Amino acid sequence: MLDALQRPVRDLRISVTDRCNFRCSYCMPKEIFNREYEFLGRDLLLTFEEIARVARVLVDRGVEKIRLTGGEPLLRVELEKLIAMLAGLGQIDLTITTNGSLLERKAEALAAAGLSRVTVSLDSLDDAVFRAMNDVEFPVGRVLDGIEAAAAAGLGPVKINAVVKRGVNDHTLVEMARHFQGSGHIVRFIEYMDVGATNGWRLEDVVPAIDIVAAIGAELPCEPVEPNYSGEVARRYRYLDGSGEFGVIASVTQPFCGACTRLRLSAEGSLYTCLFATEGHDLRDLLRSGAEDADLGALVDGIWRGRTDRYSEIRSSETRGLPKVEMSYIGG
Ligand code: SAM
Ligand code: SF4
Ligand code: SF4
Repeated sequence: MLDALQRPVRDLRISVTDRCNFRCSYCMPKEIFNREYEFLGRDLLLTFEEIARVARVLVDRGVEKIRLTGGEPLLRVELEKLIAMLAGLGQIDLTITTNGSLLERKAEALAAAGLSRVTVSLDSLDDAVFRAMNDVEFPVGRVLDGIEAAAAAGLGPVKINAVVKRGVNDHTLVEMARHFQGSGHIVRFIEYMDVGATNGWRLEDVVPAIDIVAAIGAELPCEPVEPNYSGEVARRYRYLDGSGEFGVIASVTQPFCGACTRLRLSAEGSLYTCLFATEGHDLRDLLRSGAEDADLGALVDGIWRGRTDRYSEIRSSETRGLPKVEMSYIGG
């Protein structure tokens, strides 16, 4: 199944909740996501059965990778049940992106349910910097414990996502790279993106990937490596001393829409064909109206075939200020 720009559907990202126990300023700033903020009610969330049904229809159409995200996916009660259902769909790469806060407790159950690997978000090893970024005073040490628990449960190599914000954590990148050298875990530095409408994004706050690589390379000599597969989002770099690799995700300065094979399912059952989409396509009504899989498939086919998104390639003054969905809702 190809979209209007000849891209197949390969990756499905499923947001299982729009809630989170962190308030990262670049994603869910406290001033907006406060007590008054209305999160989705329970009856609006897709059930595990509904999620698994959508996933099955999409696996039939070429999806090979499924990533659970959110909000914070580990806040969804009994997530391992959903993982077991998705693992039963066949030979898919089944992963999760988590802030790691509950990982130490849950890693073994996730692995036993059939999860393939985990990605843990950790923006700095400097405890004060990290606490300021998650804005709920969550300590670095507990995320590191979660990473170790995941590796011990067989969910490695763990990928570690660090969003880089100028003047906030960019002075701690080399320390981060050095810490995970030789550990088998792979840090990926992510350019701060203009997702959603609440994080007050400014281009000046983005540290270009090229500068990130230069800063690390100056201390830890490295060289670029070929991608693992075509369409890989992260650009890879290998340390010359053989102690592993790191990656950079340059969504702002080197967009990769041409190879974008990702489809996103929001927690309430809307399909989004781009991280920067302004509107989704509701599947929940159809799912709850007794429709057949064929009807669901026809709807999904039409949505993917009509897809023309390439936001990051055309990002400009014209696209700035347009309404966008929040990352915590659509899933990163
Ligand atoms: N709560 C989980 C976590 O933080 O890993 C999963 C959801 S989070 C929205 C998914 C990923 O998006 C995280 O790695 C996070 O750092 C990243 N992210 C959120 N806002 C971002 C932004 N404005 N720019 C770049 N990455 C962002
Ligand atoms: Fe929560 Fe993840 Fe967003 Fe941080 S990036 S606020 S942990 S959803
Ligand atoms: Fe894919 Fe949209 Fe991101 Fe481009 S901007 S890489 S089309 S999600």
